[in-house]
Amino acid sequence: MDQVNEILAAIGQAGKNPDGSYTRISFSPSYFQAVEIVRNKMEELGMQVNQDVAGNIHGVLPGSDPKAKSIIMGSHLDTVPSGGLYDGAYGVAGALEVVRRLKESGVQLRHPIEIYGFNAEESNPVGGTFGSRAITGLVDPHQPGLEEALQSYGRTVQEIMDCQRDFNDAKCYLELHIEQGDHLDDIGVQIGVVRGIVGIVRYKITAIGHSNHAGTTQMKNRRDAMVAMARLIAQADQRCREIDDTLVLTVGTIQCWPDSENVIPGKVECSFEMRHMDAEKTDAMIQAIEEITKTIDTVTFQIEKQIDKGSVRCDKHIMQLIDQAAEEVGASREVMPSGAGHDANPMAHRLPMGMIFVPSKDGLSHCGEEWTAPEDLTRGADVLYRTVQKLDQED
Ligand SMILES: [Zn+2]
Repeated sequence: MDQVNEILAAIGQAGKNPDGSYTRISFSPSYFQAVEIVRNKMEELGMQVNQDVAGNIHGVLPGSDPKAKSIIMGSHLDTVPSGGLYDGAYGVAGALEVVRRLKESGVQLRHPIEIYGFNAEESNPVGGTFGSRAITGLVDPHQPGLEEALQSYGRTVQEIMDCQRDFNDAKCYLELHIEQGDHLDDIGVQIGVVRGIVGIVRYKITAIGHSNHAGTTQMKNRRDAMVAMARLIAQADQRCREIDDTLVLTVGTIQCWPDSENVIPGKVECSFEMRHMDAEKTDAMIQAIEEITKTIDTVTFQIEKQIDKGSVRCDKHIMQLIDQAAEEVGASREVMPSGAGHDANPMAHRLPMGMIFVPSKDGLSHCGEEWTAPEDLTRGADVLYRTVQKLDQED
């Protein structure tokens, strides 16, 4: 009955590394090999297939009602270097499995079904979620470095702008994905009903002290920017845990001047990235950071906002349908935010959007150890299949 595992394994024939990981970088030969595998599967299922300049593969299964709008499903086919089998490819395999089951049962839905295998969702020279941003018209043609990067792929900015499509003929977008975090695995729940994709707020914080001789400067007279930054990081980490248990803070980069063993650091610069569904939580976090900096008087701090990507919310009605579908297949479930970005984010700017998560063992993702149990993959496809059927019963 279920073939989602087989379809996923077939896609995994592209970009499989000897160590068990997968590398399908956007616009690479192994990426386009995966596109061909998906194209063949779509054609085998009787879908009308086309591929756009952005590298997205797109299949359409006509519905019986010419006035009904499309139910769109999708995810991405690219991976990070040495990534896993499941991230992205599972969502495409799940969507193909839905169409396969419809064909097998001889049912034609009223609504057309569309499937996208998106290119370049992962971090890359043209920017993440590139394929889904191209079709939703969310690529900024003046983005620094875009023209050169596209040129290296033999594409022009104008060709990408022309990939934008009309969504007046579409009803909604659904994405099935592995959680890529440890929440579902931790609590032993089978299905995540996603309520939205968290916002990402990123600051550059600089501590400015005074460089001096590491041997002659007494400890009490030092204005050490590294020590001040270390205090800020440790205290901010503590405050983050107090503000909200789903708020996350990461200090992922550090630069030190003059970066020498025998000189007290005079300047240290770090990135502070925070993510949450609600802007008030990230606002509270940056306010807490500002308060902490006032208590550290050996240096001055400069705080500069760099990125503020707002959260997107899943459609409440689609969330209810996903919840009902999960109940019907006897799955335990939990409403949760997505801490990772997805193609569902750009798509949510154009259409009502829903996402279904299945557990990731030990929360591992973007690595060769990424793993989800075959029965969990099947369960996710079951929930997607039933959700599509429920959506088809509506206008
Ligand atoms: Zn992904």
